[in-house]
Amino acid sequence: SSRPKVTENDVWQAIYRDEFFLDYQPQVSLRDGAWEGVEALVRWRHPKLGVLFPSAFIDIVERNGNLASDLIAQVIKKSAEDIQKCGHGLGRYRTVSINVSPIGLTDLSFPELVDSVVSQYNLEKRRIRFEVTETSIAEDPTVLMDILTRLRLKGYTLSIDDFGTGHATFENLRELPLDEIKIDTNFVRAGLRDPVAKIIAERTVALGHDLHLVVIAEGIEDVDSWCWLRDLHCDYGQGYYIARPMPPKMLAAWARKWRTPSI
Ligand code: C2E
Ligand code: MG
Ligand code: MG
Repeated sequence: SSRPKVTENDVWQAIYRDEFFLDYQPQVSLRDGAWEGVEALVRWRHPKLGVLFPSAFIDIVERNGNLASDLIAQVIKKSAEDIQKCGHGLGRYRTVSINVSPIGLTDLSFPELVDSVVSQYNLEKRRIRFEVTETSIAEDPTVLMDILTRLRLKGYTLSIDDFGTGHATFENLRELPLDEIKIDTNFVRAGLRDPVAKIIAERTVALGHDLHLVVIAEGIEDVDSWCWLRDLHCDYGQGYYIARPMPPKMLAAWARKWRTPSI
């Protein structure tokens, strides 16, 4: 395969050597195009292999709870630093979504760690959102639920990522104190040519709204998908049509150029 082979030990070293960084992908309102927030996406500047995307290493991370929780801690600190450097109201009146592997959420002091970063950088808790997917190997599901519930009680918000894929299921809707549901890229991208994907996406919007959740579609790649989801009253959108993930310092230039489609 073309996928570079990295080992668990490589990932430990990368954390130690500070080789991870974040790109940010804008999320906008499908109603009026307003810039609502960003999702932070981790990348690894590997000294020999160049920049690696999560598909090259996230499976390794998720096999080890300690590794996963160290990565989460690093991602939270980095995103706070980026937010402070680049401004744009991120973390104040625009949301920053952070992916967390449930397998890394095993330490009950995690919500306090987040609190300390958030107060140090003067962010608003409700503007920090954690995206979770199901993990079958979560060591102790009670601890995981306890951590997520504590985060939610403190005022952070929770999103369920990749909904409908088996990584995130109906059962999660009953278990998690959610604020947002993310329609998986696969349903969004196939929606205009595959009638089954279309129905799934449409029913997910309705389901989310019936449960009083905000619904966001990821993987919007063209204007037709934008119009379809907007007309369904899906709340937010994310995808290459709006913007690719980018370094934080590029967000300003994107925001100046971004125009809501006029059809
Ligand atoms: P995700 O959270 O579902 O993130 C969305 C992925 O879809 C990103 O891939 C993004 O670049 C890609 N994407 C966005 N818009 C489009 C589009 O219009 N078309 C297509 N084809 N793709 C689009 P990426 O950055 O490679 O991340 C892959 C996954 O890795 C993420 O999926 C997330 O589950 C995981 N991940 C990313 N950052 C972190 C992190 O900090 N911690 C953990 N645990 N996982 C992370
Ligand atoms: Mg995500
Ligand atoms: Mg997703």
